[in-house]
Amino acid sequence: MTVSAPALEEGLGAIVGPGHVTAQSAALSTVSIDGRPPRWIASPGSTDEVSRILALCSTEKLAVSPRGRGSATDLGNPPRRLDLVIDLARLTAVLDYVPEDMVATVQAGCILEGLGSVFGKHAQMLALDPHAGQSRTVGGVLATNASGPSRFRYGTGRDLLLGARFVQADGTVTWGGAKVVKSVTGYDIPKLLVGSLGTLGLIVEATLRLHPVPPDTGSWLVVFDENERAGDFLSAILASTLEPDRLAWLNDGALRRLGQPPAAAALCVSIRTVAKAVTSQGAALAALSEQSGGKARALPAELWTKLGGALVAPLVLKVAGEIRRQSRWAAEVEHRASRQDLSAAIVGEAGNGVFRAALTGTIEPDIFGRELVTPLREALREEGGSLVVERAPRLLKDAADVWGPVPEAALGVMRRLKSEFDPLGILNPGRFVGGL
Ligand SMILES: Cc1cc2nc3c(=O)[nH]c(=O)nc-3n(C[C@H](O)[C@H](O)[C@H](O)COP(=O)(O)OP(=O)(O)OC[C@H]3O[C@@H](n4cnc5c(N)ncnc54)[C@H](O)[C@@H]3O)c2cc1C
Repeated sequence: MTVSAPALEEGLGAIVGPGHVTAQSAALSTVSIDGRPPRWIASPGSTDEVSRILALCSTEKLAVSPRGRGSATDLGNPPRRLDLVIDLARLTAVLDYVPEDMVATVQAGCILEGLGSVFGKHAQMLALDPHAGQSRTVGGVLATNASGPSRFRYGTGRDLLLGARFVQADGTVTWGGAKVVKSVTGYDIPKLLVGSLGTLGLIVEATLRLHPVPPDTGSWLVVFDENERAGDFLSAILASTLEPDRLAWLNDGALRRLGQPPAAAALCVSIRTVAKAVTSQGAALAALSEQSGGKARALPAELWTKLGGALVAPLVLKVAGEIRRQSRWAAEVEHRASRQDLSAAIVGEAGNGVFRAALTGTIEPDIFGRELVTPLREALREEGGSLVVERAPRLLKDAADVWGPVPEAALGVMRRLKSEFDPLGILNPGRFVGGL
C-alpha cells in the first residue's frame, strides 16, 4: 500500500524533528535540480538520522539527493525522479583531529573554509582548493571529486581521503578505508565514493589526510602574447627541476573577468616552501618565462581563491586532455565558441591537463551538440581525453549527453556497482554516467 504524502512527512519529522523537515514550495524551489523541486527537504542532525531516513526512503522507494551547499547541483543529468533532498547543513562537527598524525575525521557538512581555520591553528591544511571559493562542503567536494590548482602537488579528494563513513541506500551505515595514512586495505570503497555524485551512498564522515602549511609562498602571473608560447612555458616548467605546488592556466577571457590586463594566455604559478628556496626558485622561474617569451610579475595571493569567479556562467564545459597540449585544446575551444558568437573564459588545472571553459552568449541546442560538444569529444578521444558538460540550461543538457560516452566494459562495472550499492535506484537516480 502506498503511504500518503502527509504520512511520509510525518515519518520524516519523527526522525529529524518537525522543525527539520519542510514541504513548503518556496523552500523546495531553492533546492530544485534542473528545474525539478523535491517533495520534501529533511535536515538530519546525526548519522543515525541519515540512516533512518534512507531506510524509510528505501521502503517507500523515494528518490533522494544529498545536498551540501548546492553549488554543484548542476553537474550531472537531470534527475529521473526526486522526492527528498537530504540537506547536510547540520552535520558540521570535527569528530577527531590528531595534529601529530596530520589526520582529521570530520562530518560531511563541514565547510572547507571553517576547516581551514581549525587546521590552521596547527599550521596544517586540507589541500583541496576547488574553484568558486571555500564555501563548499566536504561531502559535496568529495562526491564531485572537485579540485583546483593545488591538485598539481597534492592530488584530488581521491588522494586525500583515507576513509569514509557512508550510509547505503537501505540505511546501512558502513565504514571503509583507514584512520591513518599508512595502512593496508583491500578494496578501496572511499575511492569509489569520490566522484560518484552521491549515487552509491551518502557520505556522512570523512577521514582526511592533512599537510603542513608551507612556511613561505611566492606567486607569479606569467603572461604571453601567443597561446602557444604559454604552452611551451608549461612544458618547460614540467620538464624543469622547479617544484611549483599550484598551477593555473588562464585565457584572455578569464584574465579580463579577473580584472587583469589582457593577454593571449597566462599561467599562474606558486611555489610554497622555505623562504630561501622560494626566492631561488622564483628567480629560476622568471628566467624560464623569459626564455619562453613570457613576462612574469607578482601575483596577489588572494587571486588564487578568486579564479573560480571567472567561471561563473550558465554554461561550463570541463575538458581533459594531454597535459602538454593544453594550449591547443584551449585554442580549439575558443575557436569553436567564437564561431558561435560565444565568449570563452578558460581556467585550467594546468599541470593536470584539465580546464574549464565558461561560455557566455546564446546557442541553439542542436548547434551546441553538433558544433561544439560532439566534434570536441571526438578529437579529445583520440588522446584519451574527455569533455563533460558541467553546467548547462536544461535544453542544452537534453541536446548533449553531459558525461559523454563511456566504454561499454567500464559502464558494465559501474552498473554492477550501482546495483550492489543501490539496488532500488533511489540515490540521485539517472544523474550519473550512462543514466545510472
Ligand atoms: C563557478 C564554479 C566553478 C567551479 N570550478 C571547479 C573547478 O575548477 N574544479 C572542480 O573540481 N570543481 C569546480 N567546481 C565544482 C565545485 O567546486 C564542487 O563540486 C563543489 O565544491 C561541491 O560542493 P557542495 O557542497 O556545494 O555540493 P552540492 O552542490 O550540494 O552537491 C554536489 C553533488 O554531490 C552530492 N552530494 C553532496 N553531499 C554529499 C554527500 N555527503 N554524500 C554523497 N553525495 C553528496 C549531491 O547530491 C550533488 O550531486 C566549480 C563550481 C562552481 C560553482
